[in-house]
Amino acid sequence: MTENRCGWIVQAGEAAAYPGLRGVEQADWLIIGGGFTGLSAAHSLARMHPQARIVLVDRQRAAQGASARNSGFAVAHENPVGDELLGRSLNADYRQGSAIGQAANEEVRLRINELGIDCDWRDEGYFFAVHDPDKLEDAELRVQTLRAVGADAQLLQGPALASRLGTDFYQAAIHCRGGNALLQPARYARGLLDTLPGSVTVFEQTGITALARMKGGKIRAVAANGSIEAAQVLVCVGPFMPRLGLQDRAVFPLELSASLTRPLTDAEYRQIGSPEPWGVLSTRPAGATLRLTNDRRLLIRNTVEYRRRDLTASALDVRRQTHVRGLQRRFPWITADHLQFTWTGHLSATRSGEPRFARIEPGIHVVAGCNGSGVARGTLWGRLLAEMASGSQSPLLSSVLRQAQPGWLPPSPFFDIGASLRLRYEACRAQSES
Ligand SMILES: Cc1cc2nc3c(=O)[nH]c(=O)nc-3n(C[C@H](O)[C@H](O)[C@H](O)COP(=O)(O)OP(=O)(O)OC[C@H]3O[C@@H](n4cnc5c(N)ncnc54)[C@H](O)[C@@H]3O)c2cc1C
Repeated sequence: MTENRCGWIVQAGEAAAYPGLRGVEQADWLIIGGGFTGLSAAHSLARMHPQARIVLVDRQRAAQGASARNSGFAVAHENPVGDELLGRSLNADYRQGSAIGQAANEEVRLRINELGIDCDWRDEGYFFAVHDPDKLEDAELRVQTLRAVGADAQLLQGPALASRLGTDFYQAAIHCRGGNALLQPARYARGLLDTLPGSVTVFEQTGITALARMKGGKIRAVAANGSIEAAQVLVCVGPFMPRLGLQDRAVFPLELSASLTRPLTDAEYRQIGSPEPWGVLSTRPAGATLRLTNDRRLLIRNTVEYRRRDLTASALDVRRQTHVRGLQRRFPWITADHLQFTWTGHLSATRSGEPRFARIEPGIHVVAGCNGSGVARGTLWGRLLAEMASGSQSPLLSSVLRQAQPGWLPPSPFFDIGASLRLRYEACRAQSES
């Protein structure tokens, strides 16, 4: 049976444990959720309110949820599609999204530099690559669209692409630099956690199950062995708001699985032409994400499912076989024995692809719906949520609030059936790219 073990977390090394909550704590600010969003919010609040008592809680280990388990693409520029292309009806929206994406990536860069986080940050961009050239229609126009928002984009095909990636599986790709970057996600998340200032108290293994309004206006956050009474609460739990008793009709969970190989041997690495590290994103939502890491491992993420329950070990085994097949299509000499780690994680998605970002009642602020771009956007959302909750305003915050129209989800079971069917349809459309 496959053990659900994230290679990035193991590589980041043993993390010091924080205590679980016992009894009643008082706080000026409570942050629920210790991923990129919550950790970034904690740093920003501590800077804005140096005298305040800030508490951050996580129901598991902090910095070990989706934020540690992702593929490590820091997205500034998304792949433009359809009407988002230059000269078409949604190009203005694409430009606005790219401006926010660039600000988000800049935020990551600043955090890493200011806090001195060593997380294999690699500023060389990555590839939007396809096996089936029809999946990169309007390739030249996509390149122009990316260049128009400041990206350094270049179309690559044939031998030039094969030698860059060490496989001739991909027939065409846009190499997109000028913002897009790669990193080791668990080390970035750990870095944010380890550098929190002394005014932030962390409790782990502390799941909040309810938020209740107290007399006088404070909010009581209830956990199994205690509670926290806070003036302001920032909810940064991704798709898990219902666990806090908060009704949400905008955000839903997607479960992704990934595998990481052992480092390639010198002979294997030479066999693929000794390329520089790279990252590949599919142009289809259900297509595969791949990386060749700095330490010469291959990463693959080629499943995405709508699930509300965690995968069992035997179900994870099936996902792992899908990873092996995906790797073998690109590198036929790979065997199941190459895979050292396999794991899953949940990201939060919305119908429109835009986040839920709002004050839902006095003192309670929520953000979710990074839609697969949470490395950069989560980092930025955390800072902006802290600013909004503190009453600050800025053009960037206004721009994010304008875009924060996540769309409405139909009730169960209609949504559950629709989402499952849609993902199966997307998986079929992405078959050549999985
Ligand atoms: C396999 C995979 C690949 C991905 N690849 C990429 C990528 O390449 N690039 C990219 O930008 N994004 C990617 N993503 C998405 C990205 O990981 C997320 O968008 C991002 O981590 C969201 O950060 P967050 O802080 O909002 O949420 P999380 O990291 O999920 O943090 C939320 C935290 O809240 C805690 N929590 C939940 N409920 C409670 C509760 N009741 N009480 C207390 N705490 C609670 C959880 O334990 C968790 O630690 C990927 C995701 C997955 C799963």
